[in-house]
Amino acid sequence: MDNLAERKELIATVRQMNALGINQGTSGNASVRIAGGYLITPSGMAYDDLKPDDIVEMSFDGKASGSRKPSSEWRFHQDLLKARSDFGAVVHTHGKAVMALACQRMELPPFHYMIAVAGGNTIRCADYATFGTQELSDNALKAIKGRKACLLANHGLLAGEANLARALSLAVEVETLCDTYWRILQIGEPQLLTDEEMEDVKEQFKKGYGMPQGGK
Ligand code: 13P
Ligand code: ZN
Repeated sequence: MDNLAERKELIATVRQMNALGINQGTSGNASVRIAGGYLITPSGMAYDDLKPDDIVEMSFDGKASGSRKPSSEWRFHQDLLKARSDFGAVVHTHGKAVMALACQRMELPPFHYMIAVAGGNTIRCADYATFGTQELSDNALKAIKGRKACLLANHGLLAGEANLARALSLAVEVETLCDTYWRILQIGEPQLLTDEEMEDVKEQFKKGYGMPQGGK
């Protein structure tokens, strides 16, 4: 079987999404870039039951190979991996805090400096479209433009990064930001950071926060 290490890492990633409490059941999905295409989780299968052979190999023209059906959201995984050379992996989650804000169709403002972890001064919410449709993929690509994450209205979260570990870590951060934001809204309006303050944060991140020698 080709790409065994990537298949195993993909399975470990979706299991971790549930173990970390940022997703549950068979909701959510993940993909990772490989030579000539990408690997994606199968549709509607319990993550604990997944074996490397259940992972679906896809070409960039939407052709699947393997015995399982690809995630119903293969379109946005494919469109993102095609459009964004900076993404080596994409994760999609249905976390409780993300869903709470996504159902309000809220954009996250710069209430905390970690908003910049998703690449901008806000984290946008994509317009609503039915799950599994090209319309949802089109809306998601628009909302994630210039960013690494966006909310999906009345649905969940989409996060892309250089690799699976980083994409998962970003999903955890955005879930935490959403959880914090709704708590803040219980007690009033947050003091927002200015554009200048957010620029300074982005500069700090560029210096390679947490990475020895500005590494990976
Ligand atoms: P799949 O099981 O088909 O990946 O669907 C889960 C999901 O989150 C749809 O948006
Ligand atoms: Zn979903």
